Amino acid sequence: MNETAGAPIASGAASEGGTGPGGVIEIRDLHKSFGSNEVLRGIDFHVEAGEVVCVIGPSGSGKSTLLRCVNLLEQPSAGTVRVAGAEITDPDVDIDAVRRRIGMVFQSFNLFPHLTALGNVTIAQRKVLRRGKAEADRVAREVLGRVGLADKVGSYPAQLSGGQQQRVAIARALAMGPEVMLFDEPTSALDPELVGDVLGVMRELAEEGMTMLVVTHEMGFAREAADRVVFMDGGVVVEEGPPSQVIADPRHERTRAFLSRVL
Ligand code: ADP
Ligand code: MG
Repeated sequence: MNETAGAPIASGAASEGGTGPGGVIEIRDLHKSFGSNEVLRGIDFHVEAGEVVCVIGPSGSGKSTLLRCVNLLEQPSAGTVRVAGAEITDPDVDIDAVRRRIGMVFQSFNLFPHLTALGNVTIAQRKVLRRGKAEADRVAREVLGRVGLADKVGSYPAQLSGGQQQRVAIARALAMGPEVMLFDEPTSALDPELVGDVLGVMRELAEEGMTMLVVTHEMGFAREAADRVVFMDGGVVVEEGPPSQVIADPRHERTRAFLSRVL
């Protein structure tokens, strides 16, 4: 297994600084295996600044693994992953510094049950960014307002609906001032009537110009909010393009078969 395939380019890429013309996320020939199971089989993929990219595809096609490789929750087996100007597969990269610039929202909200909404949104600001209490509180109130929870700052997770908890999780990520937001099926664990509020917040973020990479089964969201839709199957990108093409008029039989099951 070639664990360090990305290293030689890394220092050059890192010294360029910023996101550069290559985009906020730039993935080349990414492979990932778990034992003998090759889950990602050569992914080339990019997200430009301000772009909203939705990844769709059947369960087990490697969508979550792709996202997890973007912030090194999984170590790629081969290939290069460049995020916010840093070659994150470079062994010398300060991965914590890169991760600070990536907001991540999962299916499960993972809020601290013993902290209020305000506490959940301030804790990483205090501990990771070393912001003072007044500044962290100010930012937390601002982002909680943006996700429609200005009146819930003092509520504990158990006092909030699933949709409200997920919006706290989005606010928590936003409070760190991320350069890109990754979402992995953020509405899959929610009761159907709560999905709309979370998607509404994501739509607003998209309209404000946030760079977003969203794994989702919500085809309505992909159709309306995505600049580009990427269809994955069997660890490869089968087809990608604007939603008007990939969702409304797919070229590949595998895309058509998938869409006929989910639409
Ligand atoms: P998706 O998100 O598209 O449903 P995943 O990326 O979660 O797909 O999974 C793709 C494949 O990788 C599946 O076969 C899954 O069992 C396997 N896989 C994912 N994570 C691990 C892991 N940590 N260890 C072993 N196999 C894994
Ligand atoms: Mg998944």
